[in-house]
Amino acid sequence: MDGNVNFLLLGKKRRMIEMLRQKGITNESVLTAFEKVDRHLFMESVLWPSAYEDTALTIVTEQTISKPSTVAYQTQLLEVAKGHKILEIGTGSGFQAAILNAMGARVFSVERQITLFRKTSKLLSSIAPNIITYYGDGFQGYPKFAPYDRVLVTCGAPNIPEKLLEQLKIGGIMVIPVGVESQKMKKIVKISESEYSIDDYGDFLFVPMLHDRVRK
Ligand code: SAH
Repeated sequence: MDGNVNFLLLGKKRRMIEMLRQKGITNESVLTAFEKVDRHLFMESVLWPSAYEDTALTIVTEQTISKPSTVAYQTQLLEVAKGHKILEIGTGSGFQAAILNAMGARVFSVERQITLFRKTSKLLSSIAPNIITYYGDGFQGYPKFAPYDRVLVTCGAPNIPEKLLEQLKIGGIMVIPVGVESQKMKKIVKISESEYSIDDYGDFLFVPMLHDRVRK
């Protein structure tokens, strides 16, 4: 990349990271991941002027890339460590998956919309080839690689899907926004095969988690 362009990009990222700190993101490995990943690559070039602002942006087929502070907040709650196997539900633009990958996690990401799945899989295969993407229904999880150290749901779930709890390791953490009109962020720790602790972390607005795969 041209030296001047690189310099401007770094400035934009530094301002975004300052904003994240002000919003309560203190985990340095989360902040470092935001410095490593180029968020503008996950959207059309017309949106680039807003790529490092704290706004949600529309990608394709009515789906959104969550705003940076929401991605950072969920990632911080997830307590990611290097080498963790993480199941993400809702690949969308691929940005959240790329952040987890930049933190050294092994990411498995599920998307139900075929157009988005194809587009994002292609993008990720060039910029973050370790990420495994899967066209499926997130309510079913991704049993092939279960159990997972962490499960992250990035769409508004009507309830806590049973299969996702099953595919979580004992001692593992799931972060999931639950609700229909708006969502409460929940952090779930799997204590044993049948015991969980659940804590609430504020209100959010996500696109809905919908049943079944679709060919659009
Ligand atoms: N993590 C994404 C956020 C995308 S928005 C990012 O960083 O850009 C949420 C995504 O969840 C949408 O792409 C939507 O199609 C997807 N989604 C909704 N219901 C789903 C389901 N049941 N299984 C998998 N993906 C789902």
